Amino acid sequence: VLDLAVTAEAGWTGGRRLRQPIAVGVTGQRITWVGHPAAVRASARRLHLPGVLLPGLTDHHVHSSQVDVRALLAGGLTTVVDLGGVPAEIWPLAAGSATAADRPRIHPAGPFLTAPGGYPTRQDWAPAGIAWEVADPESAAAAVRALAPHHPVTIKVALNADAGPVLDDVTLAAVVGQSRLAGLSVTAHVQGTGQAERAAAAGVRTLAHTPWTEILGDALIAHLAQTAVVVSTLDIHGWGTPAPECHTALANLSRFHRAGGVLRYGTDLGNGPLPLGVNGREIDLLGTAGLTGHGILAAMAGSRLARGAVADLTVVPADPLADPATLSHAVPVLKSGIAVGQHVPHISAG
Ligand SMILES: [Zn+2]
Repeated sequence: VLDLAVTAEAGWTGGRRLRQPIAVGVTGQRITWVGHPAAVRASARRLHLPGVLLPGLTDHHVHSSQVDVRALLAGGLTTVVDLGGVPAEIWPLAAGSATAADRPRIHPAGPFLTAPGGYPTRQDWAPAGIAWEVADPESAAAAVRALAPHHPVTIKVALNADAGPVLDDVTLAAVVGQSRLAGLSVTAHVQGTGQAERAAAAGVRTLAHTPWTEILGDALIAHLAQTAVVVSTLDIHGWGTPAPECHTALANLSRFHRAGGVLRYGTDLGNGPLPLGVNGREIDLLGTAGLTGHGILAAMAGSRLARGAVADLTVVPADPLADPATLSHAVPVLKSGIAVGQHVPHISAG
């Protein structure tokens, strides 16, 4: 039974051109077909949207307990990856979030693992409990074992030599090794000379920020492009008035991108004055780093407009392949097949 047909003037199904026009059939939480609006059965409930239909959008670096998560969904984000939160707050916030109509789907990492006294234990913004201090390989492995039953999306480690002590090589190796045994990847905050290289050597799979401390060497860029995903977070360096660190990060990210590396849109929401929702400045900076509209969309798309995919839909007013800035006007439509946002009242019976 086709529950709902969402139609629009155009939609993005993953390619370098839009499909015009488009209809997306949704049953329960899933997309059950994608086709032409003329093929929609007369009995289906309908929702017609002006603009361009997109899959749900994801911010791959947020701290959701430090923002109003309802505003993030209203701002076009149907999914967020939470890269550091207090366990007692973040597990309940994430539970049930996949089908909640009032907040994005939240994929949490849980607390930071860090060296005793390491980042972010001494930061003003960091609430008690957001970091677990691990002193040696045994306590690192025990921390990962304690987190695994909560099914974190990744294990977050801090390697910030600018803000305090960092995990030594054997303790970092224990985090990565124990995570691998638990089927989990490791995501690192790298800051301070040489920390990106240490993370790469240890087998860290995701960098939570584009490295900004130093211009990375060609061999390291090539290695990262083969082995790691980089979350952009370019706008944290100045929030609209790019600081010198922004230029270093841009140089690293554009070389990583040219080397074939996979990057993800992420903003570090919850940390600093960032817009609640899709950040147009981050999108502009991704363009400066050399990404096309297609590349930016691919870095943000949390799902696909395809049969079998989870039914997360957003809509934007213009063609984001030609004009990526339109993504900052994204409005959520469906999340796991549930109507969300301002379009809810406009669904008509078949
Ligand atoms: Zn962060």
